[in-house]
Amino acid sequence: MSCDGCSVAFAGAGNPAMEQFQWGTLPGIPKVILHHPMFSEHSGDAFTDPYRQAAAGNLGAPYIVVLEGSVPDDQALPSGGGYFAAMGTERASEWLVRLAPGALASVAIGTCATWGGIPAAAGNITGSMSLMDYLGGGYRSSWGIPVINVPGCAPVGDNFTETLTALLSWANGIGNPPLFDELGRPAWMFDETVHRHCPKAGYYEEGVFAHEPGDNQCLVEIGCWGPVVQCNIVERGAQNHMGGCMVAGGACIGCTMPGFPDKYAPFYKAPPGSAISGGISKVYGGAIRRLRRMSMKTGNREPMWDNADEIPSAFAAAKGPRSGTDRFAAYFYKKLQYNGTVHHGKRYKKQPLPKSRDILTQKGVDHSQSVDVLREKAAPREEI
Ligand code: SF4
Repeated sequence: MSCDGCSVAFAGAGNPAMEQFQWGTLPGIPKVILHHPMFSEHSGDAFTDPYRQAAAGNLGAPYIVVLEGSVPDDQALPSGGGYFAAMGTERASEWLVRLAPGALASVAIGTCATWGGIPAAAGNITGSMSLMDYLGGGYRSSWGIPVINVPGCAPVGDNFTETLTALLSWANGIGNPPLFDELGRPAWMFDETVHRHCPKAGYYEEGVFAHEPGDNQCLVEIGCWGPVVQCNIVERGAQNHMGGCMVAGGACIGCTMPGFPDKYAPFYKAPPGSAISGGISKVYGGAIRRLRRMSMKTGNREPMWDNADEIPSAFAAAKGPRSGTDRFAAYFYKKLQYNGTVHHGKRYKKQPLPKSRDILTQKGVDHSQSVDVLREKAAPREEI
């Protein structure tokens, strides 16, 4: 029960890419043969034969079962069973019963396969469920591994191919077994919340929130669940390290989490918890933001400009001397900053201004005239 989005994500993976498995160009990993309803060149019996061989135990090679989409409750159909989804002329769910126990590992790709996802949402008529739910908590592969879950709707393709790489390297005798969390997710990818690495986390900290999608600021007030969602999309990107929900201005709707979509609905409504955390961050974040602005004002000046009391840029709004408040704040800030160490601010005060500073004025160049390097004509700016 899937939309094929996970296969599309897999095909778009780059680190490593699908083709690298098939070509056998990944160091330490044997060549992998992909049997996939969309990507395989064979159809009919030629396509399903390797599945039959694997089920009969005479494939002659270890195999990994990868499920995309949730498993429909075929048994619930009238007269003891029917077809919500099929592969070849047989029920897809039946293939799982035949293949999963003998597999090196069974991997669920995408949120439908990992936690049921959209087909398992309230009101679904298919009784859809995840691979874990279907096979049961006692399931172990022939190598003793419970179901591995790489969630996401669609998942980051690289998350899947990297999991496969870790699994295959270990199975090939290289390195330690990969670490999975208590729900079978690759622990190194899903142990952090998406919020911790979000490019908008600084806005959250300073209590500045977006009013509509596309605004630069933190999206929590328009329905972002990032603070409680385990996902690595913002640091990894959707594809080729590009994009990814909040990077592209979209709020996190919890698509990697068990219970998605119902537990995160309605989308684009502020999560109740954000009223407390967001409210607190508005108060202290507002104060912190103002203090930081003061530091930025000081930080945006060369020490030479402080000594000369001017900024040599026609762009600068603050060209002249610093205000008394700015000087006062900078004085105490630097005192704390250089406490117990060399006070570079004081040292720089003794630095003489360079003789060539403001050379054009020294040479008598009239700034109101354009300068023609070929000396053919000097036109006033208005004329230009
Ligand atoms: Fe956190 Fe979402 Fe705001 Fe990013 S946009 S900082 S994930 S709440």
